[in-house]
This record gives sequence, structure tokens and C-alpha cells, in this order.
Amino acid sequence: MKKKILVAGGAGFIGFHLCQSLLKNNKVICLDNYFTGSKKNIEILSKNKNFSFIKQNVQKKITLKCDEIYNLACPASPKKYQKNPLDTIKTNIFGSINLLELAKKNNAKIFQASTSEVYGDPLIHPQDESYRGNVNIIGVRACYDEGKRLAESIFFDYYRTHKINIKIARIFNTYGPNMNNDDGRVVSNFILSALKGNPLIIHGNGKQTRSFCYVSDTVRGLVKLMNSKMAIQGPINIGSDNEITIYNLAKKIIKLTNSKSKIVNVEKAEDDPIKRKPNLYLAKKLLNWNRQVKLENGLQKTIDYFKNK
Ligand code: NAD
Ligand code: UDP
Repeated sequence: MKKKILVAGGAGFIGFHLCQSLLKNNKVICLDNYFTGSKKNIEILSKNKNFSFIKQNVQKKITLKCDEIYNLACPASPKKYQKNPLDTIKTNIFGSINLLELAKKNNAKIFQASTSEVYGDPLIHPQDESYRGNVNIIGVRACYDEGKRLAESIFFDYYRTHKINIKIARIFNTYGPNMNNDDGRVVSNFILSALKGNPLIIHGNGKQTRSFCYVSDTVRGLVKLMNSKMAIQGPINIGSDNEITIYNLAKKIIKLTNSKSKIVNVEKAEDDPIKRKPNLYLAKKLLNWNRQVKLENGLQKTIDYFKNK
């Protein structure tokens, strides 16, 4: 019999790709309130008879039957999660508790989409999972960073108290097709601007770095973690260790799109991390997971997606 898997946040960018991947062998229930998710994604997924959708906020109690739960429900773009910071905090805390209660009731495995943001503006480089981070607790990013940190704590307390089978991945910057046009994150912003011939706006001097992972690689990592033995709980970094400055990313996208766009620097974003790159030792050793898609190839696929859109 097919497993019944709940994906909270399945109408969003990574959630959409995760649902597509899980539907190959399972029944998938997506629960989402469309805060940043797209109805178009759900329309595409609904073509599969093993897919069903529930429009609901994870902050409310959830009652359904399932074998596994993925918690991706949370806005991920700084532009979106800072729009209503109190809601972001509530989604992380009450969403985690409600889904963990559901896992307890169903005796289900549960996965939490944590983030590289738990390391804040990191003082060690690259970041490994034992690093406890450098988050500005009272800053504008804290609703997300601290929300995700507390979610990890809640997951481990449910494990210690109720022996729930938990899995936590710290996802690093992921990009690819099916990001929303107004998402606000750097890859989609730069591609859309380059395709329209508009300036690519860099916050700050562009020397800040990120390490971008193509979405199919990220999703493979999340599923491998979910399917790993119970002793492997994480947190485990999932992402790319191919570090690039935001300035070089802009140049690359201008080149790949054959665009005449200029680069324009504006004021640095508040609390913007200066460097970010994961140490992937645990993902490789425990999950036998490796990134497969090169940045140029992943960017080209994403450019093609936005061109066709
Ligand atoms: P996204 O914003 O595209 O998707 C988030 C989804 O969650 C959306 O469909 C949204 O409508 C839904 N959602 C938000 N609040 C909700 C609520 N209260 N109730 C029900 N649904 C709600 O973001 P994404 O890039 O797909 O990220 C998915 C998850 O992965 C997030 O939890 C994010 O924090 C985590 N993550 C993503 C990245 C990345 O680079 N994409 C990096 C680190 C962590
Ligand atoms: N950024 C930028 N221009 C944009 C969007 C983002 O210069 O249009 C920068 C942002 O300040 C950060 C980096 O790109 O330094 C990555 O930002 P993003 O919002 O994609 O994700 P983050 O890693 O900050 O959560």
C-alpha cells in the first residue's frame, strides 16, 4: 500500500518540487494557506490522482491520518517573512507544535525544514552543524532565525518527551523553477531583471557570499534524510558548498541571459549575513548525499523557466 505523506507548505517553491518527487511512489496531502504558495503549483499537482489539498493555516490544530510529515510551512524570503514578523514567529512555533502533535497521534515520522539562518551572520566559515550561530536576537531577521531555532528545540523536546521520530535539515540557499515572480530572493530577482533589461539591484557592495543549490538536489537530500534510520535525526546541512559573491552571481546571470542590464548598488540590507557556506561532511557521510547540478546548469534551467513564463 502507498504511504500517505503530509507536506505542510507544499504550495511553495521547495514544497512543490518535494510533492512532485514524493508522488512517484506515494499519496501526498498538501496543507497550505497560500501565504507565499501558488495556486498554479496546486493546479499542476492536482492532475495526479494521488494528490490532495487542504487549505489551512498550520497555526490551527490539524486532524488527519498520515504516515510521514514534512514541515515546510513558513515564508522563506526575507521580504516575505519580515512583512508580518509576528505571524512568522507564530507559524514556526504553533506550526511545529501542531504538526508534532499530529505526528504523535499518527505515530508518524516528521521532518523539519530548518535553515542556514540559524547560524545568523556566522563567525566561523564554513558552517558545520555544531556551530551555535551568531543571530541578532532583536533584529529584523530574528522572527525567522529565532523562529527556526526554537522550532528545532521544540522538535528535540518532543523527541525527548514522546520519542517522536524526528528529522531536521538545515537548508542553505536553494533556487530553481517555480519560484514566484514576486518572491524577492536574489536568484529570481536577478533573472527577472536581466530578462527585462532592468538594472540588477545589489544590496550593499556585493561582496557578501551565498552558496546556491539547485532545487532537485535539495529535495533529494530532504527525502534521503526522511528515509534514513531512526538514529539519524540531524540537524544536517543540505545545500551547495560552491560559494559565490552576489556581485559575481549578478555578472553570471547577465552573461547567461545575454542581457544589457546594468548592476546598481543600493544600501546594505539590515543584518544581512556576510558569508555563508555549509560544511557538508555529515550529509555526505550519513546520507551519502552529494550535489549533482552545477550552478551554470541550474541557473540556465531557471532562466528557461522564467523565459517561458
Ligand atoms: P516558500 O515561501 O516558497 O514556501 C513556503 C510555503 O509555506 C508556501 O506555500 C506558504 O504559503 C506556506 N505557508 C507559510 N505560512 C504558512 C502557514 N501559517 N500555514 C500554512 N502554510 C503556510 O518557501 P520555500 O523556499 O519553498 O521554503 C520552504 C521551507 O524551506 C521553508 O520552511 C523555509 O524556511 C525552508 N528553507 C528554504 C530555503 C530556500 O533557500 N528556499 C532555505 C532554508 C530553509
Ligand atoms: N540581494 C540583492 N538583491 C536582491 C535580493 C537579494 O543584493 O534583489 C542580496 C541580499 O541582500 C543577500 C543575498 O542577495 O545578501 C541573498 O539574499 P536572499 O534574499 O536571496 O536570501 P538570504 O540568504 O539573505 O536569506
